[in-house]
Amino acid sequence: MTVPMETLNPAIVDIGPDGLTVACTATGPQLGLNEPEDKFQGPLSIQIELVQSEGPISVTGTLEGTAIRQCVRCLVEYSDPLFVTLYAEYLPQAGAATKPVPAEQGRKSARRQAQPVEPVDEADEEDEVYWYQGDHLDLVPMVREQVILAAPMQPVCREDCLGLCPQCGQNLNERRCGCPPEQAPSPFRVLRGRQSKGGNA
Ligand SMILES: [Zn+2]
Ligand SMILES: [Zn+2]
Repeated sequence: MTVPMETLNPAIVDIGPDGLTVACTATGPQLGLNEPEDKFQGPLSIQIELVQSEGPISVTGTLEGTAIRQCVRCLVEYSDPLFVTLYAEYLPQAGAATKPVPAEQGRKSARRQAQPVEPVDEADEEDEVYWYQGDHLDLVPMVREQVILAAPMQPVCREDCLGLCPQCGQNLNERRCGCPPEQAPSPFRVLRGRQSKGGNA
């Protein structure tokens, strides 16, 4: 284990005929994960293999650790074991002036987030193209992005979390509060209202 920033910026000449394996631990901030929802318990353990054949440099690996997430129902923080499969292909950046990469990756991120349950097939993996300049690869943006993509959109502490009482705020996983059942607006009542309006017009 070495300094993460050095390990995650491997020199391309170090990728020999048998490839190169790098491993390190890093904290969230070291990976640029600085948002309030990017909370981790302990360091993140990263292992990456780089292989260069004729074409792009393929990068595969894993990131393991424990994320601290906040349940969207009861607002309690819970630990969520994190196991992220890393996959990327790196191509040399042709012209430094062109900036197609962030927009392209943003679009892909959005597409993946829109279909979170879609199993990762090979076609999807081939989409993960990154660019490098000079004689080193910067793996940090790729690792950061894939950790963000692995986070659930609606984290729940457990599938049957009862959430908070909407009236008194009591965490219903801990105890019942005794408030009367909530008067939820009935969708049928709303529909009837619309229909009668339509009939009057
Ligand atoms: Zn919960
Ligand atoms: Zn209550």
